[in-house]
Amino acid sequence: MAEQPKWWSMRRAQNLKPATYRCPFCQKHLPSMTDHVLIAPEDDRSKRRHAHWECVRKARAEGRLPTQGEWLEAERGPRPSLGERLRRLLGGKTS
Ligand SMILES: [Zn+2]
Repeated sequence: MAEQPKWWSMRRAQNLKPATYRCPFCQKHLPSMTDHVLIAPEDDRSKRRHAHWECVRKARAEGRLPTQGEWLEAERGPRPSLGERLRRLLGGKTS
């Protein structure tokens, strides 16, 4: 992969017909009929990959697999707290 996608979509998958995929994280085989995860870079269905739950969990823990929500959050920067937003709404007055 030349360019890292900004975010990944991921959904639970379990095929009804047998096939064998290769997990992009551990390069091991993944039987389609087991419970696994379907990941797609920026939700590009043509590039979706089948991965093990465990491998996705590990990649997420290492921050390598952000969801769209997490990416948007990082782009926006830290959001002000609820208290902060309320104070702004009320014209900077503190009670
Ligand atoms: Zn794997």
